[in-house]
Amino acid sequence: MKHLVLLGAGHAHIHMLSTLVGQPLAGVRVTLVAPYPRQLYSGMIPGFVAGYYALEDCVIALEPLLAGSGVTWLRQCVVGLDANTRTITLNDASRLTYDLVSINTGPVQDRQKLEQSIPGAQQHALFIRPIESFGVLWPRVVELAQSRALRVTVIGGGAAGVELACAVAHRLSNARVTLISGAASVGANYSQAVQARIQRALARRQITVLQDRATGLTADAVLLANGAQLACDVPILATGAQAPTWLQASGLALDASGFISVDASLRSTSHPQVFAAGDVCSRVDRAIARSGVYAVRAGVPLANNLRAVLAGAAPVAHQPPKQTLNLLSCGKRYAIGIWGCLSFEGQWVWWLKDRIDRGFIRRYAGQRSGVRPTA
Ligand SMILES: Cc1cc2nc3c(=O)[nH]c(=O)nc-3n(C[C@H](O)[C@H](O)[C@H](O)COP(=O)(O)OP(=O)(O)OC[C@H]3O[C@@H](n4cnc5c(N)ncnc54)[C@H](O)[C@@H]3O)c2cc1C
Repeated sequence: MKHLVLLGAGHAHIHMLSTLVGQPLAGVRVTLVAPYPRQLYSGMIPGFVAGYYALEDCVIALEPLLAGSGVTWLRQCVVGLDANTRTITLNDASRLTYDLVSINTGPVQDRQKLEQSIPGAQQHALFIRPIESFGVLWPRVVELAQSRALRVTVIGGGAAGVELACAVAHRLSNARVTLISGAASVGANYSQAVQARIQRALARRQITVLQDRATGLTADAVLLANGAQLACDVPILATGAQAPTWLQASGLALDASGFISVDASLRSTSHPQVFAAGDVCSRVDRAIARSGVYAVRAGVPLANNLRAVLAGAAPVAHQPPKQTLNLLSCGKRYAIGIWGCLSFEGQWVWWLKDRIDRGFIRRYAGQRSGVRPTA
């Protein structure tokens, strides 16, 4: 019997798993390695921070999804992979071998690397990844804010930083919120028109924006490159994500930033028994933004290609759309939408985002429970 191992329950694997219910793979044993009993849908996290969603609204529980799929679920993390010997090491030091492995573990916030650029980060920052940990810690900040007015600083001027800063300002009405955007201006990856919309949204929420680099954190301050210190109770680190460090010794071909190099069929360019999808990989044929939207879209082609390869057929190229709808929530049931060179904003944009996000959860969160983790 062949052994297919799925590493991580990211967006693409959620789809793959859903296809196994009632349609098991003949002659194939499937194992899922996933540390948490649920997948948190990141697109809804700003809404959770703002107080619009309970955490349970933003999750796809694995047990019901796996019921009747025949999948063996190991509730662990992968900490090592040797692609030459087809061996996976888990966090309890146990090992698995595979005939085919698919990797959808997402990116990480590499704490050691971040500590080097922002000393004090490991001890004082509130990291947004793992999202599961952030989901547990955020309610404690809300609780603390009930006893005193907090000074919250979001470090990182990309989409996640903007959404989180707006959500925090909405939720903690007595907090002083600052967004530190680094060397670049806020939303620098977007057009001038979108940047202007973002700046207006931040100003409406009375969020102070500092275009400067955070160079260190202490228990009650953010140190800035210009030499100033910003008093801060809660520094939220949203400076972007890195490749998992366990890939470095895997033997897999990686891109310059350490993400898995895959071809158009989502297959490793160095090891044909390895597929990858979502933010953990980079396509060599064309640049694709790391985003939840693309990770979701990789689900169907990944599932088709894993099935094809297990059946002895060739995988097929996946052609994701050149542009996708980008929706940034701005705290108060209000969002900015970006479609190519067009942008728009309003309550109706937030409503659209809410519908799309809830639709994803509903699509995969409907099946009955039954599977128990084996570890
Ligand atoms: C606050 C915030 C808001 C965002 N909003 C949006 C948005 O609105 N739209 C958008 O397109 N993108 C958004 N993003 C980006 C989005 O989160 C990522 O692009 C997306 O999560 C990538 O999906 P993925 O499936 O590759 O990985 P993930 O969603 O990170 O899933 C990876 C899974 O693998 C598991 N895992 C991790 N490490 C291991 C391991 N070692 N072993 C086993 N399992 C492991 C994790 O627990 C998780 O279940 C947002 C990000 C953040 C932080």
